[in-house]
Amino acid sequence: MTGNGGGGVPRLAARLLRLAQGAALGLGAPLGWQLLRWLFDLEPTHPRYELVLDVYMAVGGVLVFAVFGYHLGRKEQRLERLTLVDPLTSLYNRRHFELMLDAEFARHLRDGGDLSLLVLDLDHFKLVNDTWGHQEGDRVLVTLAAILRAGLRTQDVAARVGGEEFAVIMPGIGGAGAMAAAERLRLAVRDGTFLVGPGTRIPVRISIGVASTERIVVTGPSDLFRLADDALYRAKGLGRDRVEPAWPEGIEDSLGPC
Ligand code: GH3
Ligand code: MG
Ligand code: MG
Repeated sequence: MTGNGGGGVPRLAARLLRLAQGAALGLGAPLGWQLLRWLFDLEPTHPRYELVLDVYMAVGGVLVFAVFGYHLGRKEQRLERLTLVDPLTSLYNRRHFELMLDAEFARHLRDGGDLSLLVLDLDHFKLVNDTWGHQEGDRVLVTLAAILRAGLRTQDVAARVGGEEFAVIMPGIGGAGAMAAAERLRLAVRDGTFLVGPGTRIPVRISIGVASTERIVVTGPSDLFRLADDALYRAKGLGRDRVEPAWPEGIEDSLGPC
């Protein structure tokens, strides 16, 4: 053990590599200039000596910074993706979901538009893992994520908020719209093709809880989430494979669009 944890030696090697790259770049510029001088027989007394040196420094500087900028930008994007996205399903992760829900709730307070939230959970998913193994269970999660993505608008934010729990933020959508969207997703999963093992199709079902600022008084984003989560667990208790609203049954029929 190095005392730095398991990654100590590779991390040191990576730093030394960066050091060598920096040194090579630092040495490369004067060596390149010497090579150019030798190739074109450029002496300091040559009438174009200063002009060629200026061009060499300008072109070299632009090239080096452009290549560095490009690579740093790519790395930055990759790191940003790692902090926002769930690696298994490529949906947003819980941390990003919470930030987005806070932002959308603030927008709802500011602009007065509706905001709805769906919380989804796979039914009896433990059975899939127990029967087919964790890896095949992961495959089911990936297929489910693809079905969610395909069934949502671009402004909806779908995230994996737990192991087999997902959430969808629906800005600008009221209770009836959110219930309809949730029902469409439930049916899309019901009709979806979930393959496990060597191509066996298995039935997958989801339950969904729906909360909407249009139907209930909500004190904040975590309240909205809690209400949708409570509705989800009511859906589980009522037999699963169903959509439950966070507001009392019947209200969605008596309330027209605001
Ligand atoms: P319910 O209908 O009440 O939701 O039943 P359930 O079996 O889906 O719920 P339960 O909470 O009993 O089990 C959830 C299972 O999800 C157990 C856990 O092993 C599995 N799970 C959680 N995260 C992952 C994951 O990332 N991959 C896989 N394959 N399974 C996971
Ligand atoms: Mg479940
Ligand atoms: Mg669960």
